[in-house]
Amino acid sequence: MPLNLLQDIKFLAGVGPKKAALLNSELGIFTYLDMLYYFPYKYVDRTKFYSIREITANLAYVQVVGKIESFETIGTGPKARLTAVFKDNTGSMELIWFKGIKWVEKNIKTHIEYVVYGKPSVFNGRVNIVHPELELFDEVEKNVSGSVQAFYNTSEKMKKNFLTSKTILRLQYNLLAIAKGNIPETLPKWFAEKYKLRSLNDSLISVHLPKNADQLRSAQFRLKFEELFFIQLKILSLKSKREQKFKGHIFSVIGYFFNNFYHQCLPFEMTNAQKKVIREVRKDVGSGIQMNRLLQGDVGSGKTIVAIMCMLMAIDNKTQACLMAPTEILAIQHYLTISKMVEPLGLNVRLLTGSTKTQQRRIIHNELENGSLQILIGTHALIENKVAFNNLGFVVIDEQHRFGVAQRAKLWSKNSIPPHVLVMTATPIPRTLAMTLYGDLDVSVIDELPPGRKPIKTLHFFDSKRKQVYGFIRDEIQRGRQIYVVFPLIEESESLDFKNLESGYEVLRKVFPEFKVSMVHGKMKPADKEAEMIRFKNHETQILVSTTVIEVGVDVPNASVMVIESAERFGLSQLHQLRGRVGRGADQSYCILMSAYKLSKESTIRLETMVRTTDGFEIAETDLKLRGPGDLEGTQQSGLGFSLKIANLSKDGEILQFARNVAADILSADPNLEHETNSMLKRQLMVLNKTQFNWSVIS
Ligand code: ADP
Ligand code: MG
Repeated sequence: MPLNLLQDIKFLAGVGPKKAALLNSELGIFTYLDMLYYFPYKYVDRTKFYSIREITANLAYVQVVGKIESFETIGTGPKARLTAVFKDNTGSMELIWFKGIKWVEKNIKTHIEYVVYGKPSVFNGRVNIVHPELELFDEVEKNVSGSVQAFYNTSEKMKKNFLTSKTILRLQYNLLAIAKGNIPETLPKWFAEKYKLRSLNDSLISVHLPKNADQLRSAQFRLKFEELFFIQLKILSLKSKREQKFKGHIFSVIGYFFNNFYHQCLPFEMTNAQKKVIREVRKDVGSGIQMNRLLQGDVGSGKTIVAIMCMLMAIDNKTQACLMAPTEILAIQHYLTISKMVEPLGLNVRLLTGSTKTQQRRIIHNELENGSLQILIGTHALIENKVAFNNLGFVVIDEQHRFGVAQRAKLWSKNSIPPHVLVMTATPIPRTLAMTLYGDLDVSVIDELPPGRKPIKTLHFFDSKRKQVYGFIRDEIQRGRQIYVVFPLIEESESLDFKNLESGYEVLRKVFPEFKVSMVHGKMKPADKEAEMIRFKNHETQILVSTTVIEVGVDVPNASVMVIESAERFGLSQLHQLRGRVGRGADQSYCILMSAYKLSKESTIRLETMVRTTDGFEIAETDLKLRGPGDLEGTQQSGLGFSLKIANLSKDGEILQFARNVAADILSADPNLEHETNSMLKRQLMVLNKTQFNWSVIS
C-alpha cells in the first residue's frame, strides 16, 4: 500500500503527541509531506575528520573521533561546569559543559568511541570545545551523518523540549526510510528528461541526507526549479487567461491632442528611452488586448511625460484617463504639472483627493459621468465606488509599490471594457523580484536620464562634521540653491537618540536666522502640507525640513542639496528615493548622509553603497541581498502571497529565469494546459492553488 503523505505527523516514528504539537505550532508541520518540505537552512561537510593535534582555535567547526578518559566537575551550584578529557592517538583536548551537566553525566560514557563535533576555542593555552555534539562512532557510521549534514532552524521552545536540529534530521531519516519510493512525481517524465532534473524522490532524499556536495546541488536545483516553475506557470497562465478574456480598447488613432502636445507643448526633446516606452505602449493599446504594463524608471528619468502622452492617446480615442498617486502631495503636484503642461490643449483636467470639498466632488462626478472630464488626477479617492466614468480608457498608477494589486483590479472594473493600465515605479525592483511580484505585467524600462544632468555627489559625514555641513549649506543657499533636510522620526523617542524633526527644525532656524525654513510631516493637515510645499516650490523658503513624506515624486529642480539625518536608520531604497529629489536641475547636486559613529555592519554597507553608486538597479540588488525579499519595501503591501520554501530570489535569479522561460514555452504551445502531456502540470497547479498560495492577491 502506498504511503499516505498527508498522514498526521504524530504517527511518525520518534514524534509522539508532544513533539507533534511543537512541530504544528512552531513550524507549521502537520503532515509527512510538510515535514519533507521543511528544508535545511545550512549544511556542514562532515566527511572530514580532524585529529586533535591539527585543531586550532581559528578553525570553524571540526569533528574528531576519540574517547573520553575522565570527567571532572569544577565549582558548585549555578557556576558549576563539567569538563572531560578527550583523547585520540595524537593528543588530548577538553570538552566543557556549563548546562545540561546531569544529562551528560548520565548518558555519555567514558572509554567508548565518540564523534565529537563543535567549534574549537582556546582557554589557558589548551584547546577545548564548549557544548560539543557527541555521537557514538558506530551510530555515525551506520546512520545519518558522516557525510554532508543538514541543519534545520528550530525555536528556543523546541530546543528546550529536545526538538533540536539533530532531532529533526533523525525524523527526516525515519520518514524517508518509509517514504522512499512512495513520493509521487510532480513533473512529467518527458519534462524531467528534457531539462535534466532528478526525480522528486531522489531529490528529497538528497536534500535532507546528501552523500556529497554534487548530490546536494542537483537535488536543490530540482526543488528550486520546481518551486519557481509552478509560480511562473501560474502567473503566466493567469496572464494568458486574462488576455484571452479581456479585449482591450483599441486606440487606433494618434490624433489632435497627442500630436499637438508633442509638437507644441513639450519643453524638451524626449530621451530615446522615453520614446521607446511610448512606442511599446502604442503597440499594446493598438493590439486589442488590455495592456498591463509596469514602467520602471529611476527617479528623475521622466516618467511623468510618458504618462501624459499615454493619457493623450486615450483622449484622442474618445476615452477618459486618470492618474492615481499614493499621497496627496504627489497628486497635487502631478495635477499642477500636468494641467500646466497640457493647458494649451484646452483639456478638462481635475483633481480628486480625500480633501476635495463636496461641491467640487459633485462637479467631478457629473463631468466624469457625462464624459466632459478628460483627465482625472488623484489619490485612492479615485477608486471609491461613487467615482464612475463615462468611458475610462487609460489608467496610470504612479509609485506602484504603495498600491495593492487588489486596488489595481478595482480600477479595471470601472469600465465594461477594462482600461489599459500603466503602473509606474521609481523603486527599481530587482529583476528576479519583478518577475515574481509583477510577473503578470509586461515591463518597460527607462534606462536613461534626461541629458545635461550632473550625477549627484553623495557624501557621508559623522555628526562631528556638522559645522562644516552647515557651512556648506549656507554657501549653497547663498548661490541661490534650496536645501532639503530629512529626519527619520516625527516625535522624539526617548529610547532612541537620533534627531527628531521638530527639534531639528528649531536648530536649523537658529543656525540659519537669515534664511526661511519650512517644515512638512505626515501628521499635518493636507492643506497645510500643501501650502508649505508650495512655499518651498516657489522659493519663498530656502530650507525644507521634513520626514519621508517627500520621499516620492516631489519635484523642485532648484533644490540641489539633500541632507539626510540619521541616515543609518533608513533603508537603502528609501535613501535612494530621497536622493532622487535632488539632481533635477542643471546645477551640481549633493546628497549628504549624516550618521552616528557607531554603525552596524549593514548600515555601513548601505551608506557605502549610496556613496559609491547612483544606479537604482544596483542599489535594489544590494537591498535585496541585505534584507531578503520578504522585507523589501513594498513586498508586503503588494502581497507576495506566498513564501518560498527553498528558492531564494536574491540568489537564484538564473534558475528563476530558466523556470520562467520553460513555463512560457509550455504555455505558448498549450495555453490552457489541455494536452495530455501537460495534464500532470495542470493537476499539480490545481493542488498548489488549493494549498500553498494565495493567488488572489497576485492576479
Ligand atoms: P520621475 O521619473 O522621477 O517621475 P519626472 O517625470 O518628475 O521624473 O521628471 C523629472 C524632471 O525631468 C522633470 O523636471 C521633467 O520636466 C524633466 N524631464 C523629463 N524628461 C525630460 C527630457 N527628455 N529632457 C529634459 N528634461 C526632462
Ligand atoms: Mg514621478
